[in-house]
Amino acid sequence: MSHPRPKLVRMLHRSPRRSIRSTVRALALTGLAACSGAGLGTSCDASGASAPTIAFDSIRAWKHLEAQVAFGPRPAGSDALESTRQYLEAQLRAVGLEPRRETFDCPEAPYGPIRVTNVLADVVAPGADSAKLPIVVLCTHYDTKKLGFPFVGANDGGSGTAVLLELARVIASAPNRDVVTRLLFLDGEEAIRFDWQDPDNRYGSRHHVKALVERGEAERVKACILLDMIGDAELVLTPDTYSDTQLMQIFRDAAKSLGLEKHIGKRAEQIKDDHLSFLAVGIPALDLIDFEYGPANRYWHTADDTLAHCSPQSLDVIGRMVLAALPEWQRFARR
Ligand SMILES: [Zn+2]
Repeated sequence: MSHPRPKLVRMLHRSPRRSIRSTVRALALTGLAACSGAGLGTSCDASGASAPTIAFDSIRAWKHLEAQVAFGPRPAGSDALESTRQYLEAQLRAVGLEPRRETFDCPEAPYGPIRVTNVLADVVAPGADSAKLPIVVLCTHYDTKKLGFPFVGANDGGSGTAVLLELARVIASAPNRDVVTRLLFLDGEEAIRFDWQDPDNRYGSRHHVKALVERGEAERVKACILLDMIGDAELVLTPDTYSDTQLMQIFRDAAKSLGLEKHIGKRAEQIKDDHLSFLAVGIPALDLIDFEYGPANRYWHTADDTLAHCSPQSLDVIGRMVLAALPEWQRFARR
């Protein structure tokens, strides 16, 4: 992603691990009551919305982050990224999902053609006519920027992917009957040249959206939520001015309900990221990103983007906020 780098000073925010009481409170705040007919570990309301009753586990998410970093630098087209893809697919299958690949060539890429592969899995209730249902996309990029040193992208590339994998486990435990939740792992977000200059960026999301339009599926995609750089040990999200204001308000309300609004910053900025591909075809999209990674953003795209500057607590905070907001985003999609 890209934008001018502001100089900001902020306080260290940490939050306690999720307790059983906070899990119950979060579910109560979503207005959900238990009903018969839902699968094990789920509850649902009269409109058919389901909510997971298993909690987001930040230790699992952290292990997903460590696994990715262990593959080393993971730029588009690399063997390490293929290993990452196989890891993603294995984890998605382990929670009962059926991942599929979206592979394509980008002949126009600088320095020669690259092959790019998105991985996606739809969470759908058994027996639901998924081809007619609205879709909420939760996405992240899993490639890392190719730089002139071993860049492992713990935060930039790794963190969103780690959280989305753990969200997959939780969301798949309670498939929604009238909304498809699409988990989308995007390749080729990073610019191949050093600087971010269109069209050398967002290869995976631009292709996915083009494919949505070509197969007539774009109008069913009602919302897109992007996670990027959310592992920063000092997590304060940067409100993005391109993002859809209703989706952001839903997120703010959810954060407030959990007492976590201190993790949303006050200074809004224009951030160019994968959500722009969705906005370009009229799909409401929201970028959840902390674009102030270290003092004056100095860990961004540097050798300092390591596990040492991320934390399980931050993965926990973002995971809980997204899960608290998800039922409202799903309602937004059904309107
Ligand atoms: Zn990056």
